[in-house]
Amino acid sequence: MPKKIDFNKPLLRIFACYYRPHWKLFMADMICASLISGTDLAFPMMTKFTIERFLPNELYRFFFIMAGLMVLLYVFRMGFTYFVTYWGHTVGAYIEADMRRDLFNHLQELPFSFYDNNRTGQIMSRVTTDLFEVTELAHHGPEDLFISLFTLTGSFILVFTMRWEMALVLLVLVPLMIVTTILSRRVMQAASRKVKERTAEINASLESSISGARVAKAFTNESWETVKFRGGNENFKNAKKNYYKTMASFQSRMEFMTHFLTVAVIAVGGFLIMRDRMSLAELITCNLFVAAFLQPVRRLQSFVEQFTTGMAGFNRFVEIMRIQPGIRDKAGAVSLEHVKGDIRYKNVTFAYTEDAAARERYVLRDIDLSVPAGTTLALVGPSGGGKTTLCHLLPRFYDIQQGSITVDGYDIRDITLQSLRRNIGIVQQEVFLFAGTIRENIAYGRISATEEEIVDAAKRAEIHEDILEMPNMYDTIVGERGIKLSGGQKQRVSIARIFLKNPPILILDEATSALDSATEYKIQKALEELSRGRTTMVIAHRLSTIRNADCIVVIDNEGIRQQGTHRDLLASGGLYAELHAAQFGEKEAAAV
Ligand code: ADP
Ligand code: MG
Repeated sequence: MPKKIDFNKPLLRIFACYYRPHWKLFMADMICASLISGTDLAFPMMTKFTIERFLPNELYRFFFIMAGLMVLLYVFRMGFTYFVTYWGHTVGAYIEADMRRDLFNHLQELPFSFYDNNRTGQIMSRVTTDLFEVTELAHHGPEDLFISLFTLTGSFILVFTMRWEMALVLLVLVPLMIVTTILSRRVMQAASRKVKERTAEINASLESSISGARVAKAFTNESWETVKFRGGNENFKNAKKNYYKTMASFQSRMEFMTHFLTVAVIAVGGFLIMRDRMSLAELITCNLFVAAFLQPVRRLQSFVEQFTTGMAGFNRFVEIMRIQPGIRDKAGAVSLEHVKGDIRYKNVTFAYTEDAAARERYVLRDIDLSVPAGTTLALVGPSGGGKTTLCHLLPRFYDIQQGSITVDGYDIRDITLQSLRRNIGIVQQEVFLFAGTIRENIAYGRISATEEEIVDAAKRAEIHEDILEMPNMYDTIVGERGIKLSGGQKQRVSIARIFLKNPPILILDEATSALDSATEYKIQKALEELSRGRTTMVIAHRLSTIRNADCIVVIDNEGIRQQGTHRDLLASGGLYAELHAAQFGEKEAAAV
């Protein structure tokens, strides 16, 4: 693993860091690039020599030897070009792969809040398109810059030694071209940034519309989706158009200036010849130099383009890399072994936003809870009361602002995230299946699990029989474009994952709320089996499922309203009794 890069450095320094692991190839690439410009400089000089010495003196043999030498030179140049094109691009690809690796690793470290606030499509766009443009720059950038500066100075010096008057023409016009280039850079950079942003927006809107395609059809809102998309597409078109406009004005100006340069050289050269201060051979040579000039100037120009788009992409890359993974291990965090699962919340206060002005919108305030090891705590209450939030605080998906949460007496902020999360299993209402086989999806609970362990977990989660009936059994592809699992089957896959993970602490967040009663009954058994011997926090809509909990907590926007066993709470009346009555009818409530 290479040394970690400090992303607070200036952009170009960070960029340079990515060359470090590949410096040998990169240097070889640069050497070949300079040999290419060397041959470009040699050609006019050899021509001059031939015209001045060999032709007038009728040294035809040497003339043809010289021609042969030139061919040989170009054969070498061919080799260098091959090397630069092949290995230069490859270095670019290596650098892109390194950046993508860092970005991906970083994305894995970013907390829940990052994913709450950023759209999948936009993140995708950064990992793909943006980085591709960075590669182009990584490869062509230094090479173009190097070749053009080398050739420009080289030919300038050679022209100067031949005719200083000609060098003067170049000295006036070339800087003018370079200044134009640099000035255009800024305008083009802004335009390119806009294009990037619009592309990311398009990707995000595409991603959202495609994943929501079923909802759109259910509401027959396809045309509204089209309208929404059209807006984004229109913005993209305009941004791109604007970018091409700046590019067109830049390119046309540059071309004019190169042509003007050619004419100026001929005119000044002709004038010098009229005054007998220059020979025809020298004029031809100068002209060849100007031709040799055009390429580096063009390279410089393409460098500017690449630099603008590439740096815009790189900037967006660095922007993400600079986001601190808010939640990470503190120095000296301990790894928790043999967890019993004694959980305690003390004066816990939490708001989703760090923003001081919005701080007033606490989701949880001064919550005190205690779940002794091995017991079950049930959370009930109206939707939006903060039950899920309360559970998400335990594995530190979000950090609390005040108070403390302890596991076996250790503050969760003093424990490594790895060991904390390893000891907590979560079953949620929505199950995410990765595109892959059902075996892989179950094994996600513990990647190293053996075949027997996987089958055992599937049996305990009561999904084994269902799997045997699938076309390829455990090798059946599920998830995207695979076989469709029913809600109940998906839920049992997620339960099997937890059996494999085998954590001492369990969170069941409305695991069965989306299922019909028959399926719920079946899964309930698996869940009971799962929670045996574990500290369990269970959130349930259907109160029938939590009757046997050791403690039931009723929570709403105001905080904890009631706390006790099913019997206590029914007897004392209040919110729980009301909820119960609403679900089971007065009669049964009275009967219990
Ligand atoms: P429950 O699970 O009891 O239905 P939640 O814990 O999901 O309630 O939500 C509690 C409150 O927190 C709600 O007002 C909700 O809008 C808000 N909330 C939930 N998740 C987020 C989030 N990721 N970012 C900001 N606010 C959130
Ligand atoms: Mg919830």
